[in-house]
Amino acid sequence: MEFQLVKNVGKSTLIAFSIFFSLANHISHSQISNNPHSAEVYSNFGLDTTSTLRERIKPGHPRILNMFEEAGMSPTNHQLSGDEKRIINSSFEKLPKLHQEILKERLLQISFLDNMPNTALTAPVNPKDSLKLFTITVRAEILNQTVSEWLTEKEKSCFDFSNSELDLRYDAGNLNAFVYVLIHEATHIVDASLGIYSNNSNPNLSEVLSENRFTKDVWEDRTKVSNEYESELLDSTYFRSREILPIKKAQKVYIELANSPFVSLYGRNSCHEDFAEFVTIKYLNEKFGQNFSVLLTQKGRTTFQFDPLKSKAVRRRLNELDQSISIE
Ligand SMILES: [Zn+2]
Repeated sequence: MEFQLVKNVGKSTLIAFSIFFSLANHISHSQISNNPHSAEVYSNFGLDTTSTLRERIKPGHPRILNMFEEAGMSPTNHQLSGDEKRIINSSFEKLPKLHQEILKERLLQISFLDNMPNTALTAPVNPKDSLKLFTITVRAEILNQTVSEWLTEKEKSCFDFSNSELDLRYDAGNLNAFVYVLIHEATHIVDASLGIYSNNSNPNLSEVLSENRFTKDVWEDRTKVSNEYESELLDSTYFRSREILPIKKAQKVYIELANSPFVSLYGRNSCHEDFAEFVTIKYLNEKFGQNFSVLLTQKGRTTFQFDPLKSKAVRRRLNELDQSISIE
């Protein structure tokens, strides 16, 4: 189970995270419609799989709202404006075909909340059923941000900028932030529905990771990177340690990241986040020509630039990903 729920709302506001339960049985995409329980599950949850994704926008799921409440938080349902609905619909259309197909069969609902402590959350509503249905819950504020604005906030949350002339900016274009977040979250559902890392028929994840060409020699277990890529400095960054480093350490952090096979700091959290980040960044780059650069600046002058897609190890893994799954 991958579950991070940080009570410190101030710190966690900018962090994307997912609830992602380990699922028991493997079901390949082609088998979904053949699952003997699918009709029963769809009927139990009132899911019409012919409905469009826009028809699945619903108020927050009680299970998710309860979970927030139990953690001492109280996000509320957001009333979507006409503009926001248009942003959401055009984001659904931008999803890779595979994601659209799988969401049609597995997405029970998507909800938008105000005052959510995190950016988004993907969770199964029936974790014990052989056919899992999922909810995606999104912090509504991101509908008013670009990918660049949102990623800049997220990346800056890792560093302390007090008494420093140093700054950080993430250049990732002007698409709406929701496009990025939706592809990332939907990739978790693809992972679980196809039994890639979650829900694999082999319950030994280490074995799965060592046999899969995208994760081989990179991941030893869910959150354990291979010895070759161990890094105390990267382990001390916020997404892994909840520690906020002084911004003067950022250059060393990104130099180390550039020498690693990871596409983002967040992707180094777990094999699931790694997969979701790679799919999202690769797809936005190839389909929409979007570049990704972290820029470190001093008084507005760029002092260091990290371009994940130019890293040799990342390029090798982009190729491995192509061999494993077709995202178009
Ligand atoms: Zn995630």
